[in-house]
Amino acid sequence: MAEILVLVDHSDGAVRKTTLELLTLARRLGEPSAVLLGPGADTAMEVLGRHGARKIYVVDAPEVKDFLVTPAVDALTGIAAGAAPAAILLTSGPDGKETAARVALRLDSGLVTDAVDVTAGPDGPVTEHSAFAATHQVTAHVTRGVPVITVKPNAVAPEPAPVTPVVEKPDVVFGPASVAVRVLSRTPRERGDRPELTEADIVVSGGRGVDGAENFAVIERVADALGAAVGASRAAVDAGWYPHSHQVGQTGTQVSPQLYLAAGISGAIQHRAGMQTSRTIVAVNKDADAPLFELADYGVVGDLFQVLPQLVEEIERRRS
Ligand code: FAD
Repeated sequence: MAEILVLVDHSDGAVRKTTLELLTLARRLGEPSAVLLGPGADTAMEVLGRHGARKIYVVDAPEVKDFLVTPAVDALTGIAAGAAPAAILLTSGPDGKETAARVALRLDSGLVTDAVDVTAGPDGPVTEHSAFAATHQVTAHVTRGVPVITVKPNAVAPEPAPVTPVVEKPDVVFGPASVAVRVLSRTPRERGDRPELTEADIVVSGGRGVDGAENFAVIERVADALGAAVGASRAAVDAGWYPHSHQVGQTGTQVSPQLYLAAGISGAIQHRAGMQTSRTIVAVNKDADAPLFELADYGVVGDLFQVLPQLVEEIERRRS
């Protein structure tokens, strides 16, 4: 069976959930091989093997830690040249997409980005995409070279399939472009106990209807009761009620959780563009004609300040 290369998204060996999702998808296409760049192989090995990585290519050269994405491109291209994989999967994010585009160019291969699903077709991987603010579903298939595919977080639930991986340490030749821009420092972003917006299974977002920074505590309480990330509409972040890094939408973060709960958000097209691919959408709005109700699987017409505390109460009652 052909190898499917999966670029591991990790921090010193702490593997992100998105990689486990890619390994799960890769098993539909062939035999997953993880490509782990930088330090942390000992830490990452167990979780990668548990999710079906039969082989782990480890490249722990200083270049991959101290420079931007080009060393990853050199590494992936070099490994692909030796492995002749049937596909290369990466996470859809700024780094993943840049790396994917450069790898596809070097391999003279077709590239598809932002897939929301990947399946095995008769002539190779078939990808599903959500286009034009999720008003259209597009099916694509790479017709040239090794398909290079970036997949949005939460496309699939990670499923374990334990194997004992074989480790390979390939020699990678880094070109002069790899060391053209050195990273001078990294400062981890302060983060609380809540999950990352892009990785969360559940996102609870507030909009202009929240009516003030202090009122976002109502949204946070629901998020914490559900173990969710907090999102916000642009109206809410522009008003300074919540940090811009939490904006969901066309010009914010695009999320695709299992459950998206929007409170006090009207459902403008630019907001929908960032959340329409969520599996289940719940809207709480006091205006029964709010456009988001057209999209929502479940809707509550009501004042969020009355509805959300009752929701928290009910969640806690069922949990106790
Ligand atoms: P509103 O549209 O004002 O809606 C507030 C809603 O809250 C209303 O439906 C109201 O009925 C309801 N409400 C009020 N009080 C309560 C209450 N007590 N209980 C329950 N419901 C209540 N927007 C984004 O979100 N993300 C983007 O990335 C984004 N990018 C954009 C890019 C461009 C180029 C442009 C032009 C706009 C963009 N916008 C984006 C803005 C977008 O067009 C909307 O203006 C914005 O999404 C509106 O936010 P909102 O739904 O919170 O506010």
